[in-house]
Amino acid sequence: MTWRDQLRRSIRTLEQLEAVVELTDDEREAVRTLGSRFRLGITPYYASLMGGPDCPVRRQAIPTLAEAVLVPGETSDPLAEDAHVVAPGLTRRYPDRALLFVSPTCAVYCRHCTRRRKVGDPREAVGSYGPALAWLAAHPEVDDVLLSGGDPLTLADDALDRLLAALRSLPHPVTIRIGTRHPVTLPMRITEGLCAVLARHGPVRVMTHFNHPREATPEAAEALRRLVASGCPVHNQTVLLAGVNDDAPTLLALNRWLRHLGATPYRLFTCDLVEGTSHFRTTLDRALAIERELRRASGLAAPELVVDLPDGGGKVRVVEGERLPDRWRFTTPEGRVVDLDAQGVPV
Ligand SMILES: *Cc1c(COP(=O)(O)O)cnc(C)c1O
Ligand code: SF4
Repeated sequence: MTWRDQLRRSIRTLEQLEAVVELTDDEREAVRTLGSRFRLGITPYYASLMGGPDCPVRRQAIPTLAEAVLVPGETSDPLAEDAHVVAPGLTRRYPDRALLFVSPTCAVYCRHCTRRRKVGDPREAVGSYGPALAWLAAHPEVDDVLLSGGDPLTLADDALDRLLAALRSLPHPVTIRIGTRHPVTLPMRITEGLCAVLARHGPVRVMTHFNHPREATPEAAEALRRLVASGCPVHNQTVLLAGVNDDAPTLLALNRWLRHLGATPYRLFTCDLVEGTSHFRTTLDRALAIERELRRASGLAAPELVVDLPDGGGKVRVVEGERLPDRWRFTTPEGRVVDLDAQGVPV
């Protein structure tokens, strides 16, 4: 199946899901009742990787009733991205880099998604990148542009080609990165045509989001090989998810696979405080213990554990936090003190 066929035949309803997976009562009820909160969407390819109810692929893509639980501290926009919009689709939270929301569409809607408030909603599509490009042209201090979404590789090759060309035509040179989960959820998207576009405007850095060795399939390996062969440095960002990948041997196996293919495990993120994700969060202590074990491996396979501080505080390495008897204390680059409890919830 081509990538477009995969998207056309994407699983979006309870009936379609029941046809390929034997659901638990909890999952069935969750699909029925939580649909309005965050849409369901799973490619046939990603569904084919699913095993029993505890399967890590299944837990990332099929909701459970735990998603209905909202705990204090969780919000719809935990990183305060909407407060940092400088032009339509463009978010600037750091002095030197900005994020461009390129497409609201994803191949699979991850249950832990930080941007679920807008992802999957066609009304969130940005009509024109003109104002964002004009803003970038006027801000040479911003020289690192992260294309994100949604999934930027949902764009057709020619649309992506035009956008990359426009970024390369800015008056100042920029680092271009594409944040995409397609190598994980829709690896057939990494076609020769796409690779030619990426190579033409290279180097285009590709930030992938592999979370578990179960996603390390021959198809995904081929996608990574093609990206690397096209001159794309590939970096992987994993989200640490309880019950999915919160143990060191699992992540070590994933990271070694990535390293063998030329991809660098870049970051291990704690799960953001987005609504309905408390079942995915581990304690910061546990996260640090896992990071410590991962960092005993080759430096090329040792990601940094990072927490994206609530309320737009920004990304900081957890090791930089101060472990007080009853809390964690972080200081943002602007000097703001952020205190978090054991689970990373503000106190
Ligand atoms: C994460 C992020 C970036 C990129 O930050 P790095 O730490 O360099 O990976 C840029 N802009 C926004 C808004 C982000 O959330
Ligand atoms: S691919 Fe990324 S943006 Fe899309 S649903 Fe998953 S986490 Fe969210």
